[in-house]
Amino acid sequence: LVKGYYPYTGILGHEFVGEVVEAQDASWIGRRVVGEINVVCHRCEQCRNGRPTHCENRTVLGIVRRDGTFAEYTQLPLTNLHRVPDSLPDELAVFTEPLAAALEIQQQIQIKPADRVLVVGAGRLGQLIAQTLALTGCDLRVVARHVRQQELVRARGLKVLSEEEIQPWRWDVVVEATGSPDGFSLARQAVRPRGTLVMKSTYQGEMSVNFSSIVVDEINIVGSRCGPFEPALRLMESRQVDPTVLISDEFKLDEALKAFERAAQPGVLKVLVEI
Ligand SMILES: [Zn+2]
Repeated sequence: LVKGYYPYTGILGHEFVGEVVEAQDASWIGRRVVGEINVVCHRCEQCRNGRPTHCENRTVLGIVRRDGTFAEYTQLPLTNLHRVPDSLPDELAVFTEPLAAALEIQQQIQIKPADRVLVVGAGRLGQLIAQTLALTGCDLRVVARHVRQQELVRARGLKVLSEEEIQPWRWDVVVEATGSPDGFSLARQAVRPRGTLVMKSTYQGEMSVNFSSIVVDEINIVGSRCGPFEPALRLMESRQVDPTVLISDEFKLDEALKAFERAAQPGVLKVLVEI
């Protein structure tokens, strides 16, 4: 958002854990919660047909026409909230939204144990995607550029592949999680004919793609965004996924600009802001 891929002005922040201080239903007050970021109308064509995250009238926390969470207070409908289990510390719970986004891949496509799966990009989302795909038992490799990213992948018992080692037309499923045209190009070359390319990044501006080759190779392209919160909470509660290793630093809200600078440094994966 800061780079300007979407013209948003307002308070940023959409990954959070917080406590309910005011609610119509008083039973929510005092509860520790995470929240789904799409606020939807329940009336439009998309909502009525089971695609609420694509609501035509949606606002999105800290992204589309709705102030986000880098603030003392924020507002969401109660239907967006999920209670955080007591055994889940804030440092884990704050990852629910991106972990849910990682899990969306498995909501959309079936990953078989025999599949060769490549995750291109080992930033914040790439790491979470790798951890969740590993649970399927598939033959998984992760393309990680920075040494720190490689260490984190290996620390989870997962295998790193360098860009040079990627064999073209080999992978059944390739997940693009770099957000860069170079990353897309790598991912595109890796996927086998009739394989699936999962697009997990947004891109700044427009991107040039050779679509003829995608037609010729009969590639399935799957755009993938927000995912289910409850499985994300469950996987962290059982510690099958542990995103806390991604945390590089923590700042108070009045040092938020420092937090942004820190987050922009190479190899820094996640910076928390405490409010
Ligand atoms: Zn709607």
